[in-house]
Amino acid sequence: MTVRTRFAPSPTGLLHIGNARAALFNFLYARHHGGQFLLRIEDTDRERSTQKAVDVIFDGLKWMGITADAEPVFQSTRVERHKEVALQLLEAGKAYKCFCTPEELKQMREQAMAEGRPPRYNGMWRDRDPSEAPPGAPYAVRIKADHEGETVIEDLVQGEVRVANAELDDMIILRSDGTPTYQHAVVVDDHDMDITHVIRGDDHLTNTFRQLMIYRAMGWDQPRFAHLPLIHGPDGAKLSKRHGAQSVVEFRDEGYLPEALCNYLLRLGWGHGDAEILSRDEQIRLFDLDGVGRSPSRMDYTKLTHVNAVYLREADDERLTNDVMERLTGREGVDTGPVTRERVLKLMPGLKERARTLVELADNAAFLGRQVPLTFDAKAQKHLTPEARAMLGELARALAVVEPFEAEQIDAALRLFAETYGHKLGQVAQPLRAALTGTTTSPGIDATVAALGRDEVLARIGAVQNG
Ligand code: GLU
Repeated sequence: MTVRTRFAPSPTGLLHIGNARAALFNFLYARHHGGQFLLRIEDTDRERSTQKAVDVIFDGLKWMGITADAEPVFQSTRVERHKEVALQLLEAGKAYKCFCTPEELKQMREQAMAEGRPPRYNGMWRDRDPSEAPPGAPYAVRIKADHEGETVIEDLVQGEVRVANAELDDMIILRSDGTPTYQHAVVVDDHDMDITHVIRGDDHLTNTFRQLMIYRAMGWDQPRFAHLPLIHGPDGAKLSKRHGAQSVVEFRDEGYLPEALCNYLLRLGWGHGDAEILSRDEQIRLFDLDGVGRSPSRMDYTKLTHVNAVYLREADDERLTNDVMERLTGREGVDTGPVTRERVLKLMPGLKERARTLVELADNAAFLGRQVPLTFDAKAQKHLTPEARAMLGELARALAVVEPFEAEQIDAALRLFAETYGHKLGQVAQPLRAALTGTTTSPGIDATVAALGRDEVLARIGAVQNG
């Protein structure tokens, strides 16, 4: 059997990280077993499903490096097939026409509630002949549920889960306007797509019991199910806006690398010994559903940020530079032309050691694109005493002749200068850093000076001389 999994998002306008994690698990599971991973857009709600919302899903998955093995299936294009199966069930006597009016259904619900029963359909038309309905009356198609016994799922994450069939009512599969219901469409699509493993959030567990009725009625093989615990906030409550980012786009905007987010999301619900950082290849090699925990995971933003910092340090300098330049574009007072780009690239090994997110990275790199006169934060100003400014004037003369103008030679020149004038290296480096960056933090001073280039360094020192 070839494993075939699928991710089946509804295009609602965002890709929630809970869903993104389901996508990742489906993808890894398929890859681990040498199978296929498919994508189905559940866009039957035509009002909410816009192209923009679909693009958000495509973009998010692409960004996370989760690629499907076939063209995506759009559920809305399969309505005729959903109908066909519903009519087949009708013909086979496994489903029936229900002519209940909305008023009757309302009454049914109210009566059930009044009697303290769950508001289920009471089977009013289950055994009635359609000829008893008024001619031309609209009808929905309901599945004839088995009310005896119980349904058992051997869930690959949750273990054995049972529900008494008496709990399940004769749900509608085709509405009176001829449109299929969600439960029905999912089953027909999963069957037609040859899905062998349905891996999704455990908020779908109750749906699974209902969906199994359709598999049974059609005599179709059932897929295996794996219901993943949801992701909660750090406080254990349902993840919401107040906790922080929730959608993939938000995490991207907040400066997380996709591989860090994937690594974190994977580790959040699945464990493999103590291994924290796993490459995609290792993830594929090691992932299986038996390592997925049953209890809800708690989103830990601090941990994610830590994982991100690890990935940042390993990331390619060119790639990070491109991202930083994009984030700096449009920032007031920051030039983002090729000269700045060159500087950012050159300083990237030092910059990426100090940042935890791409936002921090861009913030820390912004000084490279500023023009004199810089503005100085309070701490930087403290370092720029009249004596320090005079000292920097002397230092400029030394820096003017450093050849080549690279970190190693600059470091030697700074040390020699400090020694000659009886300063500690820090007494030279800190005012210099303040003059060059407007702040008191930056990568190593030698690398910072080298990245700015001689002309710019002399210009920035010159500007504090006159200040
Ligand atoms: N479309 C459903 C959702 O976005 C998922 C359905 C499924 O995975 O079966 O929640």
